Amino acid sequence: MGAIERDGAFVVTRGEGAYIWDDAGTRYLDATAGLWFTNVGHGRTEIGDAIAAQVAELAHYSNFGDLTSEPAVELAERLAAIAPVPGSKIFTSGGSDSVDSAAKLARRYWQEVGKPGKRLLVSREKAYHGMHVGGTSLAGIPVNGEGYGRLWEDTAQVAWDDAKALLELVDSVGADSIAAFFCEPVIGAGGVYLPPDGYLAEVRDICRDHDILFVVDEVVTGFGRIGGSWFASSRFDLSPDMITTAKGLTSGYLPMGALFVAPRVAEPFFAGGVWWRHGYTYGGHAAAAAAALANLDIIEREDLLAEAARIERTLHEKLAPLAEHPRVAEVRSGVGAVAAVQLADPAEALGFVTTLRRHGISGRAAGQGAMQISPSFVMTDGQIADLADGIAAALG
Ligand code: PLP
Repeated sequence: MGAIERDGAFVVTRGEGAYIWDDAGTRYLDATAGLWFTNVGHGRTEIGDAIAAQVAELAHYSNFGDLTSEPAVELAERLAAIAPVPGSKIFTSGGSDSVDSAAKLARRYWQEVGKPGKRLLVSREKAYHGMHVGGTSLAGIPVNGEGYGRLWEDTAQVAWDDAKALLELVDSVGADSIAAFFCEPVIGAGGVYLPPDGYLAEVRDICRDHDILFVVDEVVTGFGRIGGSWFASSRFDLSPDMITTAKGLTSGYLPMGALFVAPRVAEPFFAGGVWWRHGYTYGGHAAAAAAALANLDIIEREDLLAEAARIERTLHEKLAPLAEHPRVAEVRSGVGAVAAVQLADPAEALGFVTTLRRHGISGRAAGQGAMQISPSFVMTDGQIADLADGIAAALG
């Protein structure tokens, strides 16, 4: 806040494809697709038209009880059809809302099936799961939890890169005390860390073998960002019990997220007699659902899942030489349309973001001095080459 008081804000006024413009009319390559979300690129009037038409008809009403709207129903059906676990139920909300909903539902599920002792929620170091109280309690980025005291009881963390750490926790506290394990397939805001080979399948199997709900946080990786498929859960065959999503669902044209709940977890609540008293005013928001539907149309029509796979390959190739630069500790890329250029000195990160702007790139620091790269799926190979050149020039 102090720096903004001193230096002023960076005001973004317009976007088109993979570019944005500031209030002085300067153009920048958008290295991050906003906050990881503009999967279809900026300036899609088709989504704007869909939103306007829906707002003129009915902006929103309520998604509580038996109430809903046509776009909310259509979206839920469409998401269920692409869900990695067939028969999933869809609960729409925001990203942090999805995480907190999943955390509450995990504990409530075990209560309903007669195992109320299963309460512990486990996550990974470096993890980011949003900013609500539940997500903050689960996060593995210590500074994000500073200054609040202990928010949620019964949470635990394990090493981010070693499935054995999860197994050791299970052995020490007992599976009958663990409700769920939360896992980002690619750690995003914690600094873009790719899953070690075999890690995701191993933690999936540990969860299965010990009857622990496996919650995959795909707020970043969902809706194509993993490259080549809608979800990391499909690409890595994870069959999660719940999937949290947001961002790419609407490409950020309106805020919306969705929690996917596998039939096993949904069943006690749909069998009758159990009422899960939980919901958000803007869950199932009609205009946001219309935006999501138009966004999904574009992803399908333009085969943007394949484009994201192309971006995964091109980023991997074009960014690799940057690892040789003395200011760079490593480049992380090769799983999805995401990458990080890890600066050797994390203290340089914020200044480097400003330097990048002078080279025509709007970027962002994540984790401990990592330059986040998560372009929209319309970024061309030529633009990725420009991005790599701009970063190299800024390093110089
Ligand atoms: N989970 C992950 C993995 C995220 O990256 C984010 C946001 O960046 C969230 C949850 C929270 O989403 P939101 O900020 O939309 O509430």
